[in-house]
Amino acid sequence: MTTNFLPVLEKSLNTEPVIIAGPCSAESLDQVLITARQLKAIGVKIFRAGVWKPRTRPGGFEGHGNKALEWMKIVRQETGMLTATEIGCAAHAEAAVKAGIDIIWIGARTTASPFAVQEIANSLCGYDIPVLIKNPACVDIDLWIGAVERLYNRGLRRLAAIHRGFKIPELNHLRNAPLWDKVQIFRKTVPNLPILCDPSHIGGSRSKISAISDEAFERCYDGLIIESHYNPDTALTDSFQQICPDQLAHIMKKWTQR
Ligand code: PEP
Ligand code: MN
Repeated sequence: MTTNFLPVLEKSLNTEPVIIAGPCSAESLDQVLITARQLKAIGVKIFRAGVWKPRTRPGGFEGHGNKALEWMKIVRQETGMLTATEIGCAAHAEAAVKAGIDIIWIGARTTASPFAVQEIANSLCGYDIPVLIKNPACVDIDLWIGAVERLYNRGLRRLAAIHRGFKIPELNHLRNAPLWDKVQIFRKTVPNLPILCDPSHIGGSRSKISAISDEAFERCYDGLIIESHYNPDTALTDSFQQICPDQLAHIMKKWTQR
């Protein structure tokens, strides 16, 4: 395993710590713009929104796709924030790069598929774009390391990991278990790879986000990716876990003062 991951993400982005925030899904131009303006006002520099939504079962809201990429461009132009979105296949990767998305991430469901990750890695070969790799939902640290390696082997160097928790049986107080000690094994295997925490998908509800973020802070994570919506109750996806920008401002305080 090659462990020489340089340059690290936060240096290449020139933001320290890395705080990425925005809605689970891009729902409309108004929704992304209103949310982005509020996030910018509290000091967030990187705006996230899902434009393709991987749903466990068909029939739910699956994102606005290419139309939403246009909204992300407008967010970038209007606010000057960097934009980040999830990709799940090579076609998404190509569309995101073409639309000028600044940072892409590979979601938990995709990290679990070596074929999909390899196709994404092949399609990104030659692009100097930061890629964040979420852990797979199953407790398989090697699968996560393998996804990092597939990107690294195709020349991508601006890489970072995201700990978004693991699906384990009979977990009732959180949506996904933050297996901090298991993730420590991952961190030791790829020691130069920055790691962010996604407390939203770990917690699954608004009241849990702050304590999980604090735990990541104590464990010297490099930053957070948090779902935030100007009106979480109306969100089309993950409504229960999205927080308002003013709640995020409290959570961010200790990170920006570090
Ligand atoms: C997301 O970030 O909106 C998402 C779908 O996350 P995950 O891949 O961690 O489930
Ligand atoms: Mn989500």
